[in-house]
Amino acid sequence: MPGRELMLFGTQQIGDDGHLKVGGCDVVELAREFGTPLYVMDEVHLREQCREYRASFAERLPVVTICFASKALITTAICRIMDQEGLSLEVSSAGELYTAMLAGFPPERILLHGNFKLDEELQMALDTGVARVVVDSLSELHRLAEMAHSAGTQADVWLRVVPGIKPQTHRYIQTGQIDTKFGLHISTGAAAEGIRAAMEVEEVSLRGLHCHIGSQMFELDSFARAAEVMIEFMAQIRDEFAVTLEELNLGGGLGIAYTLEDAPPSISELADVIAGAVHQAANRYNYPVPEIVVEPGRSLVGTAGLTLYTVGPIKEIPGVRTYVAVDGGLSDNPRPALYGAEYTAVVANRANQPQTMSVRLVGRHCEGDTLIEEVALSPVEEGDIIAVFSTGAYHYSMASNYNRFPRPAMVLVRDGQADLIVRRESLDDLVRQDVMPERLR
Ligand SMILES: *Cc1c(COP(=O)(O)O)cnc(C)c1O
Repeated sequence: MPGRELMLFGTQQIGDDGHLKVGGCDVVELAREFGTPLYVMDEVHLREQCREYRASFAERLPVVTICFASKALITTAICRIMDQEGLSLEVSSAGELYTAMLAGFPPERILLHGNFKLDEELQMALDTGVARVVVDSLSELHRLAEMAHSAGTQADVWLRVVPGIKPQTHRYIQTGQIDTKFGLHISTGAAAEGIRAAMEVEEVSLRGLHCHIGSQMFELDSFARAAEVMIEFMAQIRDEFAVTLEELNLGGGLGIAYTLEDAPPSISELADVIAGAVHQAANRYNYPVPEIVVEPGRSLVGTAGLTLYTVGPIKEIPGVRTYVAVDGGLSDNPRPALYGAEYTAVVANRANQPQTMSVRLVGRHCEGDTLIEEVALSPVEEGDIIAVFSTGAYHYSMASNYNRFPRPAMVLVRDGQADLIVRRESLDDLVRQDVMPERLR
């Protein structure tokens, strides 16, 4: 296509009619059938990402678990796919755990995270029998132990440890550095204290350690350093406490491409770097290669998602810019406002035409509500369908009802078939929890 640079993922392609297709479905038809804004998930691409993660790591390490960080995208259908692909699931709230259980996800492949797990969440974890609770603080360790005692059971735990690594990513999504609310720091002695406490408490069984250093990371060196710091620490624990922990969860964080400028490492490059660092550190500290767990969220589901919008009013401000409004925005995608996130988009019903316009894509919320500061589009008209790429992770899961917008529907596409997996909210859904007190009637 002359003059056309497009970023296409998975089964996305441009048809002869100039329409963007995904999963064998014409997205213009999807917009007509299901309405907009609409989240579209490419099932084949999603499953391919799962398989690539499993294969890349299994090739390079003796025992590996790939655990989907469900906060990136969780619905019952997505849980089912992750189960079918043999992944484990990481949840960090009662709501996520409830969704997974409702989908029939096996609890023995679920992990519970969170820096402040409520008693009812810990109780739910004990009741459902999740595989591991990732303990984040001493107070949580003792609460969990007490609850396990009452229930006459023992909880298998990992300790979340802060390796003191500051990756190059947005500061809102850095979690491995010293200044963080998560976990127990190695450098302050808190992690060692946590291990001592966990070993003294009978109701918890310390199975390993966890760390997660950040998100949307392109630089693999941070993953290697995290693996090294963690194994060095495990060796120290062995020497100090005479216990050889066998499980090491290195978290998630691999970045994805949101624009053409983004060049993230591949999953196999990540696996290479992590496996290399694990083997090297195990060697250096004469430590048995632990069972490795990785917890990708974004890089499993991000590029499998598209958001479709319908174009509304277009305003050309001479000498300034052209504003193109779409029928969604901040409520279905808070990331531009939250992180200054960048995106690329295409006029989905004219995707084969040269991008001769430069516009600002805005939503319809009562804020600046910029979706894309500046994007090159083919000539665009009211009523056109815009597709924004790489919206599979942290979009639906971060959506809100701001301005009392109903949250969009989500469809799963594959082989020309589109199945609704999240119904569009109705106006009734929006007022369902409102209560009118007697004295106002
Ligand atoms: C968010 C999170 C992940 C996943 O991060 P991605 O950047 O989406 O891969 C993994 N582990 C923990 C503990 C997290 O909080």
